[in-house]
Amino acid sequence: MRPEDLLRPSPRGLYCPVGDFYIDPTRAVDRAVITHGHSDHARAGHGYVLATEQTLRLMAIRYGEGFAGASQPVAYGESVEISGVRLTPHPAGHVLGSAQWELSWRGLTIVASGDYKDAFDPTCAPFEPVRCHVFISEATFGLPVFRHPDAASETAKLLASVRLFPERTHVVGAYSLGKAQRMMALMREAGFSAPILIHGALEAISAYYVSQGIVLGELRPVRGLKKADLAGAVVIAPPMALSDLFLRGFPEPVSAFASGWMRVRARARQRGVDLPLVVSDHADWDGLIASTLATGCEELWVTHGAEDALVHWAGTKGLRARPLHMVGYGEEEEEAAPAPTTEAKEAAP
Ligand SMILES: [Zn+2]
Ligand SMILES: [Zn+2]
Repeated sequence: MRPEDLLRPSPRGLYCPVGDFYIDPTRAVDRAVITHGHSDHARAGHGYVLATEQTLRLMAIRYGEGFAGASQPVAYGESVEISGVRLTPHPAGHVLGSAQWELSWRGLTIVASGDYKDAFDPTCAPFEPVRCHVFISEATFGLPVFRHPDAASETAKLLASVRLFPERTHVVGAYSLGKAQRMMALMREAGFSAPILIHGALEAISAYYVSQGIVLGELRPVRGLKKADLAGAVVIAPPMALSDLFLRGFPEPVSAFASGWMRVRARARQRGVDLPLVVSDHADWDGLIASTLATGCEELWVTHGAEDALVHWAGTKGLRARPLHMVGYGEEEEEAAPAPTTEAKEAAP
């Protein structure tokens, strides 16, 4: 028996021929198992979706209640069986509700981790390594140059700038699902107690986080506030919104962007970001390696990102490794349309 008998890459995503389902399919399919709510992994229009309750709720918020024909929530550590394949979600530490899916069949265990990180995040359950024969990892930051700094120290940089320029508005670009709420929570942990102003695209998702017991403090819609009232405020908005036109609405805006890519100075310059904040929801090089080793796997499959370095590293550790060259993943959340339903309708069969 080969691992490919249980799970294999296909043009629509990872496919399980035994159970006839896909993991994070990039196109509408009959049966989908979803790792987390980001738009490149969780698409609308599937016949049936298996995911954690939080991921299902986030999909409903983004795409509308009719995002799938049917859905079934599974809690972390609980299992369901599809045609003899046992499926169990475990925390991935990426965003609220994010899961690694453990597939067990005839003594073989494969873990598809989706996106994950092993760094501290007050807004979701921490990454749990799961023993397996085959570990499937992304490699968004799969190069040794990527070593993410501590998110708390990056947050401190933002708050220091806020103190230094009390007349200016700090506008922080952050992906609407996960990163935005993590920045809010990190600011609260650092003692920032003023209301945080939020772009309309963040309202529903942030409210859901609060309903799940995540402490984000007082959030206020930025919409409708007068320019004069915005001096000294911190505004969080999706990266897409950080246009010149949007920024012009604020007094002497300082633009910030929270992303692992801010480690690359050229990217920050390209975006015209005043204050790059290196805060990532993906594991860095050390995190990818530590997480892979913690699974005790014999084989590593790398889905997308900088696959080659990780595959090479695995070889030096005596692990079998292969790049899967999956397409359709990465640079995800930016494209996530905050206006729901249209995407769902288009994707429906
Ligand atoms: Zn993601
Ligand atoms: Zn992704």
